[in-house]
Amino acid sequence: MSVPREGLAARTQRSEALFAEAQKHLPGGVDSPVRAFRGVGGTPRFIARAKGSAVWDEDGNHYVDYLASWGPLIAGHAHPGVVAAIQEAATRGTSYGAPTQAEVELAQLVKQAFPSIELVRFVSSGTEATMTALRLARAFTGRDLILKFDGGYHGHADGLLVQAGSGPLTLGAPDSPGVPAVAAAQTLSVPYNDVVAARDALAAHPRQVAAVIVEPVAGNMGVIPPAPGFLEHLRELTRADGALLIFDEVITGFRVALGGAQERFRIRPDLTCLGKIVGGGLPVGAYGGRADIMQQISPLGPVYQAGTLSGNPLAMAAGLATLRLLTEPGVYDHLERLSARLTDGLGNAALSAGVAYTTNRVGSMFTGFFCPEPVTDYASAKAADTRRYARFFHAMLEHGVYLAPSQFEAGFVSLAHTEADIDATLAAAAEAFGEVTSRESRVAGE
Ligand SMILES: *Cc1c(COP(=O)(O)O)cnc(C)c1O
Repeated sequence: MSVPREGLAARTQRSEALFAEAQKHLPGGVDSPVRAFRGVGGTPRFIARAKGSAVWDEDGNHYVDYLASWGPLIAGHAHPGVVAAIQEAATRGTSYGAPTQAEVELAQLVKQAFPSIELVRFVSSGTEATMTALRLARAFTGRDLILKFDGGYHGHADGLLVQAGSGPLTLGAPDSPGVPAVAAAQTLSVPYNDVVAARDALAAHPRQVAAVIVEPVAGNMGVIPPAPGFLEHLRELTRADGALLIFDEVITGFRVALGGAQERFRIRPDLTCLGKIVGGGLPVGAYGGRADIMQQISPLGPVYQAGTLSGNPLAMAAGLATLRLLTEPGVYDHLERLSARLTDGLGNAALSAGVAYTTNRVGSMFTGFFCPEPVTDYASAKAADTRRYARFFHAMLEHGVYLAPSQFEAGFVSLAHTEADIDATLAAAAEAFGEVTSRESRVAGE
């Protein structure tokens, strides 16, 4: 998809040259697919540096950044305290393969924020955390099936890459070639926010489901809040059936409240997966929960999971520095106010431009969908006009605002964003919404 632009035309020669070279060496030129801009077309910007709320690309353009590295950077880019902590840790060595004090300290902070977590294990990615949490749930319950929700992303482990949209009671089909049918067949998937479908799926497989895994605020089909009662029902259903309830709080942990969605919505899951913010921008994931379950993990119990760089000292230092910033009073109220100013303003700008647009926001995570109807699940998210999103995305980029390069992703406000950043973003959006429709009317008139 090419997006012709008149007027502004940011310089992109260096990004284009780097992207051409990158594609000779890396599949699609990237190390993670959405970075390739396939959802919006055009050339991904190669980023040279970042500071606070801003990123600079290799051509020297700078942007107000709402990608936040897909969520981890709640303190903003290159926060001086986080950078200093990493530098200090690096001078003492980058990895020992032996336990350290920093792991103990980070575990303490995680447990203070998440009272449902009695024991925690640090790993190196969210994918590792969810994959192991499921292995643990299966071992603990002696059951094989898992239940997830359509459009829910829990990392790329085999059993979690299951076709969204499979009927509520049918067993999953793999979402990606290379996933054995037998692995996918262990995964049930039902629509998000659909309590009846979840209940029916459990009823159709009584005492066979090891765990229900859910993003307590969906973030990977765009942001979708849990409907009132949805999470409560999942808690009751799992308790009645003997399945474990796993909250995948890789995005929401330390994001929608210090104690994540489980604090915000007052639900106590059996296991919690963390990632992103807990590593402060370095590669960290974690899973934890009830002690009787976590005691099954090796070396206490028989369930195996290990990692050469797990609990890495630099990553622990970055996580510690970030979590300490988040325990300052008023942090989440500030993020809430700033984020409301942004999404209220985006909604108003769209209205003024006559563009059908729906904003979903929980705390400082948000998505603006190009559709008139409320977005409550994967099916309604998919009704969004992705071509409009692509035009809006590129118009915003030209006006100096970096959003996620896909309609079905979250944007993030950080502590480094200022009211001036938000206002500049809204001024850009007023232009960009206008350009979305003017281009459409030109195309229609051609
Ligand atoms: C990002 C994400 C993951 C995977 O984490 P990685 O560190 O990318 O492996 C899992 N679950 C959710 C909800 C996520 O947003």
